Amino acid sequence: MRIDLHAHSNASDGTDSPAELVAAAVAAGLDVVALTDHDTVAGHAEAAAAVRDLPEGSSLTLLPGAELSCRVEGISMHLLAYLFDPAEPAFAAERELVRTDRFRRGRAVVERCRELGAPISWEQVERIAGGGSVGRPHIASALVEAGVVATVSDAFTADWLANGGRADVPKHETDPAEAVRLVRAAGGVPVFAHPGAVKRGRTVSDQVIADLAAAGLGGLEVDHMDHDDQAKAHLRGLAAELGLFTTGASDYHGSRKTVGLGDHTTDPAVYEQLLAQATGMRPISALRSASKVS
Ligand code: AMP
Ligand code: ZN
Ligand code: FE
Ligand code: FE
Repeated sequence: MRIDLHAHSNASDGTDSPAELVAAAVAAGLDVVALTDHDTVAGHAEAAAAVRDLPEGSSLTLLPGAELSCRVEGISMHLLAYLFDPAEPAFAAERELVRTDRFRRGRAVVERCRELGAPISWEQVERIAGGGSVGRPHIASALVEAGVVATVSDAFTADWLANGGRADVPKHETDPAEAVRLVRAAGGVPVFAHPGAVKRGRTVSDQVIADLAAAGLGGLEVDHMDHDDQAKAHLRGLAAELGLFTTGASDYHGSRKTVGLGDHTTDPAVYEQLLAQATGMRPISALRSASKVS
């Protein structure tokens, strides 16, 4: 079983459409892929339809999810959420609040970039985002188009878009303990995304993670490209102490990042644990396997 629990489509800042992501997951030999766009479930329907339409001989299970933008003690962090009921009103309202503020903030970031001499425009960013949940990676792509930086990741420096950088403008982000409760109340399973990604900025303390565990956190994403061996060892120890499971995932963004689908994966036993905790919805598999069961 090859299980990748973190991937983005162009419903947020990935470059593959949800259907292309499903095809890429099959091509990468995955058995399970989670679609975890930033603060949105807008890609779920297209991804689910693509899984149901897979040709005979290929199979894939889709785990609908999202990656929520959170902030605690002034530190931005991400919370993955799986198999929640997307219609549950309190959680849906919070996702909408974050998405809406992404537009205000995106405009402000573009304005800052222009003040700093970068010839980009909001119209250009909107075109690049193509209706998806707008984020800094779209603005990074605009900076690449304008020849200001060579690559998307070169835009994430103190000069431009990095946390606390010259053109960084904060957006509304949910308190993570509140987010954990919202996810659980919608029947979902919350997992702390890349908790030790120090290259993105400050990371939260072990005490914050312990508090989130007490609030209902299910697991920690440990095997991630932004973690070194020391961070992974520390997080594994902390997870064991707190009774959390640990996952691995690519955090695939299509061509906006260099990582490939399935470059990091999750243990099947952990996947079973996650499924056992979810009550908001079930994973989506091809119709023919569903009809075989019935
Ligand atoms: P936003 O959600 O608009 O705040 O942008 C955050 C996103 O930017 C993250 O989900 C990553 O995809 C991307 N990102 C953050 N830091 C970096 C980095 N150092 N290099 C490349 N991409 C990054
Ligand atoms: Zn992203
Ligand atoms: Fe993230
Ligand atoms: Fe992500």
